[in-house]
Amino acid sequence: MNRRKGSVLILMMAKAEGIIIRTTDYGESNKIVTLYTEQFGKIGLMVRGARKPSNPLSAVSHVLFYGLCLFRKGRGLGVLYQAESINPLRAVREDIEKMGYAALILELVDRLTEERQPAQGLYHLLRDALLLMEKGTSSPVLALICALKMMPLAGIDPELSCCTRCHEKKMDYLFSISEGGFLCRNCAHIDRYAQNISPAAQRLLPLLRAVPLERLGKIALKTKTIGELESIVYSYYEDNAGIKLRSTHFIKQLAKFRSDEA
Ligand SMILES: [Zn+2]
Repeated sequence: MNRRKGSVLILMMAKAEGIIIRTTDYGESNKIVTLYTEQFGKIGLMVRGARKPSNPLSAVSHVLFYGLCLFRKGRGLGVLYQAESINPLRAVREDIEKMGYAALILELVDRLTEERQPAQGLYHLLRDALLLMEKGTSSPVLALICALKMMPLAGIDPELSCCTRCHEKKMDYLFSISEGGFLCRNCAHIDRYAQNISPAAQRLLPLLRAVPLERLGKIALKTKTIGELESIVYSYYEDNAGIKLRSTHFIKQLAKFRSDEA
């Protein structure tokens, strides 16, 4: 290798902490992993031999891998050379409910970002949410917090502090997906599909959107309230951003299972 080629290669090498948010099999023995990092945002990396059990990279080329990665950025697809786990997120990966909600957060990050365009604060949100989930914080609540905080990335951010039409602060609102947030009873006539929303959900929506994850204490919400919040938040993505999250199918199944149990 001549000296110039060598220095270009060094420039293209990067070491970064990241989380694998998606993987795709490629050819007989390779995988393409989508890594989310703070510095580079989302980046696609080829992992040669990742599907061969004997290859050390096979143990790290999975969704929810969280660690330090050494890779070549390149202009198109990069190449992953080494990866060292920081936290295996075992509790998340071994629990079907946690895994379902983690998948939802990963899907949001994937669908709301463009390759190599880091979004301010998003990496920390993703990482901290997964680490809290690992420690036992409610996974549906963490997914709701992430979904609410990521709404500006989708260009949708509902009005949750006053009536979206007259801007008056009231004690009691309806929720309007088409008008974009809270609607007071005087203005409710402008959207005949405005839905009733419980006092708990009215209080929680702005609270969950604003709370910094590091300040989130123990939080336990009623199953019914979680269901109500999920219905509002994920319908909002679907109707206002055209994003129908594949992972919400799992949540609906789970809700059915919960109600069968009750
Ligand atoms: Zn109003």
